Amino acid sequence: MNQVIKSYAECVLSGGMLNRQQASELARAGHTDFEDLLYWADRIRRHYFGETVHLCSIVPGRLGGCSQDCAFCAQSVHYDTAVDKRPRLLTEEEIVSAAVQAKAGRVNHFGIVTSGRSVPEGELQRLERIIRRLREEIGIRICAALGILDEKAMRRLAAAGVERYNHNLETSERHFPNIVKTHRYHERVATIRAALNAGLKVCAGGIFGIGETLEDRIDMAMELRELGVDMVPLNFLHPIPGTPLGTMPTLAPREILQIVALYRFLLPQTHLKVAGGRVKNLRDLQSWIFRAGCTSIISGNYLTTAGRAVEEDKQMIADLGLRTSDYR
Ligand code: SF4
Repeated sequence: MNQVIKSYAECVLSGGMLNRQQASELARAGHTDFEDLLYWADRIRRHYFGETVHLCSIVPGRLGGCSQDCAFCAQSVHYDTAVDKRPRLLTEEEIVSAAVQAKAGRVNHFGIVTSGRSVPEGELQRLERIIRRLREEIGIRICAALGILDEKAMRRLAAAGVERYNHNLETSERHFPNIVKTHRYHERVATIRAALNAGLKVCAGGIFGIGETLEDRIDMAMELRELGVDMVPLNFLHPIPGTPLGTMPTLAPREILQIVALYRFLLPQTHLKVAGGRVKNLRDLQSWIFRAGCTSIISGNYLTTAGRAVEEDKQMIADLGLRTSDYR
């Protein structure tokens, strides 16, 4: 048994938090003793979350035509991808029908995600109305990811019935300008703070396999810890032809599992949601994410790529002896 991993796990299990230097040591030790890293990450997951897994599904409220230039994204107008350069707004009925389907699949949360830097006032008003309808008629719990917004807009979303706001940091402050040039890292941090100040829960994480270093991964985890978000989505690059990262080699499944485990040690009581890139990058090792400390997944399709059917994911969860969290 690797003593470094064991001692840091015991620290975390007794309520302690690892610092940056300990995180680097842990990552190095976990690279050598992969099985030990997973064993302890799993212990930490079970200690803080038991055997339950949280499921969410997402719908693109507005797809494509995005003015921003995130180097991994199929929806940016800056790149020649298969996604139409004109934005497509889903109709109210299309969003309602996706929510009905999510409710039938008994997922825990339904997220409405829009492309673009932010949403204009008219679109915000339309979404407020739709969210009220989803809460009243379908009774599903709602998350929203509508880009950069201020506290006033966040309060309106909270009043309409949004429970959690999603806004990713994407990567560390140092690496961010290599990936996004059309907006700044501090704008993302300010949006997360605005959501928290408005009383919303926050889901914020990032994407890996975009040329970041180990230190970038640790820095992002530390920033998320400091911000106090309650759910951290971990995306893994699925290279999209036509984007600047379109030919980037994907991360190996073992490296992905090491990242999940590292985040479980660094954010022991925060939900970790394995999101984009799960199916493509982990292949047959998908079910190992729970052993690495994951507590949540996006089930169903992603925004521009296909995912897995909710029933298939539920079967995997049941086969592992885990269960989906209570549906409310
Ligand atoms: S990640 Fe979001 S903001 Fe960035 S290009 Fe894609 S849709 Fe636009």
